[in-house]
Amino acid sequence: MSIEVDRRAALVSLGALGLGIAGATAAPSRSLPGFDPTIGEFTLGPLPYAPEALEPYLDAETMRIHHDKHHAGYVAGLNKALAELAKARDAGDFALVKHWSRELTFHGAGHLNHTLFWHCMAPAGHGGGGLPSGALAKAIDAQFGSFDKFAANFKAAAGAVEGGGWAQLVLEPASKRLFIIQMEKQQDMFLPGALPLLGVDVWEHAYYLRYQNRRADYVSAFMNVIHWAQVGAWYDEAVG
Ligand code: MN
Repeated sequence: MSIEVDRRAALVSLGALGLGIAGATAAPSRSLPGFDPTIGEFTLGPLPYAPEALEPYLDAETMRIHHDKHHAGYVAGLNKALAELAKARDAGDFALVKHWSRELTFHGAGHLNHTLFWHCMAPAGHGGGGLPSGALAKAIDAQFGSFDKFAANFKAAAGAVEGGGWAQLVLEPASKRLFIIQMEKQQDMFLPGALPLLGVDVWEHAYYLRYQNRRADYVSAFMNVIHWAQVGAWYDEAVG
């Protein structure tokens, strides 16, 4: 199964929902799977590798539960929120608009974050791990000082998320600069307009079976399965 994916549809779809996830100027030519225009609903794309493919860094049972249960829950929650908002418009009854608007953003961001997560990883030695190359490597060196400084910043950001959340490497479209951001939950403290290129999930469901409370060990393990060629391809497209 190809790990080369097309990001545009998902990003445009989520951007059209007002989630502000896609940078309007980034315009990547690929989109991640996750929306089926024939049924007009968001869908759970398959993992781009077998659940055990990221062993020993990410264990198969966690991968299965995380994808099949947690990610599926975000997809269902997003579709449910959209359906409920459509019902509210038909009925002219917006008593619950605050609730469903929050559900839309939380689950919508959860869907995109997880889709990005699966696709920015690959089995170690088979695309995963190593170092970035090309323009992305140059940008990381220029903007963070060195790869090691980037990695230290990224791991520290991931380790310091309070509760569930993410560390992401994003491209800020106006400056075309890379930032490391720290998100809480699925969307809090996101930088509007930024294009996520790499993200690590630090909700406990992402690591507790194997790593228990040792989030730092999990984040260090994650560094061994980053699919840098894919991240670099997204970077190249985004900076044009
Ligand atoms: Mn998760």
